[in-house]
Amino acid sequence: MALYEIAQIGDPILRDSARELTVEELRERQWQDFIDNLVETMRAAKGSGIAAPQVRTPVRICVLEVAGSNPRYPYKPPIPLTIAINPIVRPLSEETFLNYEGCLSVPNLRGLVRRFVHVHVTFLDRDGETQEFEAKGLTAGTWQHEVDHLHGILFPQRVEDPASLCTWENFNRHHRDAFIASLEALDT
Ligand code: ZN
Repeated sequence: MALYEIAQIGDPILRDSARELTVEELRERQWQDFIDNLVETMRAAKGSGIAAPQVRTPVRICVLEVAGSNPRYPYKPPIPLTIAINPIVRPLSEETFLNYEGCLSVPNLRGLVRRFVHVHVTFLDRDGETQEFEAKGLTAGTWQHEVDHLHGILFPQRVEDPASLCTWENFNRHHRDAFIASLEALDT
């Protein structure tokens, strides 16, 4: 196992579109090892997700996991470890919500991003099998955030009101309770 360095905002690699991986490539030891290391890197950084371009590898792989108590996102519902190759996320309705996002590539900044409430997700798992399911609310937001990375988009590009930008400390102090209350009003 190895931990990768996480590219930070301003690094041009984060602006590139990532390429798809073929099933044949996915079976190679190189890519299986890469997936293991990407998971370890996400866990070490206490992220809820990470995409391959964030570790300077422009392929369409992202991994997501929210354990019972993630200190960065204590209010997020759990997501079992999910390894997604060539993921496609599409909205199931036009309903949106404002999601307070952060990112391992954007140090100490959070901001409100508009996301679809209900999405359909399809991808290949690490064995090359097609998986699909529906996600909603914060979990849907996490998927949309990760797939944005595969298109070279970082969350600050999607922040509608720059006045929502805040440090993590100020999020917890001034915005967290109102954000959690806004989530409870969602139809999920
Ligand atoms: Zn991110």
